[in-house]
Amino acid sequence: MPKAIFSIWWDDNLGPMVGRSYPEATPLTSEEAVTVFMGHGVNQESEIGYSKLQQGLVISYMRSPACVAVLVEEQEEASVVERNLRRLVPHIDFDADSWDDELAKSFRLLHELMKETSGDELLANPGVKKLVEELVTGRIDSVRPEHVLRTSHRYPAARDFLGTDDEEVARLLHDLEDAGVLISKTYGRSLECRQCGDSNVTIELLCPRCQSEDLHKVFNVFCPRCSTQFHAVIVDDLSEVTCIHCKTPVKVSELSVIDVEPLCNKCGTASNDPKIVFRCATCGKQLDGADLLAGTGLSFHFRR
Ligand SMILES: [Zn+2]
Ligand SMILES: [Zn+2]
Ligand SMILES: [Zn+2]
Repeated sequence: MPKAIFSIWWDDNLGPMVGRSYPEATPLTSEEAVTVFMGHGVNQESEIGYSKLQQGLVISYMRSPACVAVLVEEQEEASVVERNLRRLVPHIDFDADSWDDELAKSFRLLHELMKETSGDELLANPGVKKLVEELVTGRIDSVRPEHVLRTSHRYPAARDFLGTDDEEVARLLHDLEDAGVLISKTYGRSLECRQCGDSNVTIELLCPRCQSEDLHKVFNVFCPRCSTQFHAVIVDDLSEVTCIHCKTPVKVSELSVIDVEPLCNKCGTASNDPKIVFRCATCGKQLDGADLLAGTGLSFHFRR
């Protein structure tokens, strides 16, 4: 379990300031606060930061000008702590009057979240239990991803005031319009299926010559063992690929892909310029130019 939680603030004159820590016995020094802040990039552009301090690994979440940081216990899986820090963030009140209370509350909640999502408690979750049963009995063969590109509307100017949940920010803006405070106007075009109104898409590649969907993807990959490039056809359900030079198996999650060239199984055409088809992820309609521009974005103005 994480050992401590800290809040750090940016001060325009003084730079990163150590705010509070919980438990109070393990404060950060101001140099450490700077290190944690720098873990988010020079312009604080990345949401999650990792920094290695004397007392251990610190994972932090930036919501400019504040940053919440968690000290990870040795041996603890960093990715687990990161996932739970992300779960915790929507529960933190970044404008809290008393940061002492807020941090103490956040620290307890982080521990609860970590407990709920690991070990016996995780398996006691009724949904999890049911899913594992389905996998054990083979009713579900495996949990496969569906690659859906989601178009979303963000309002960066409102985010600073209304929070980081983009969908909630949009809902609040609509609420403000209904309350007569704001008025919406068209702004830009956005993707919207004209058949069902959805704006999530999937992408398919077709052979540019015969339009066949039956494409092999020939990958030009880099072997991390012998540092040479080799070609490999990567189909689904592979866990390893053997390098043709050094003959060592490489885990597919470790491969770095340099290039991909689709090869058509029907007509034999190899081309790295395949035909790209956008399809509505909900109703399956093939989207054309009009669908891609069918929706309109909305900007919100003060109703004068
Ligand atoms: Zn549709
Ligand atoms: Zn190799
Ligand atoms: Zn073809």
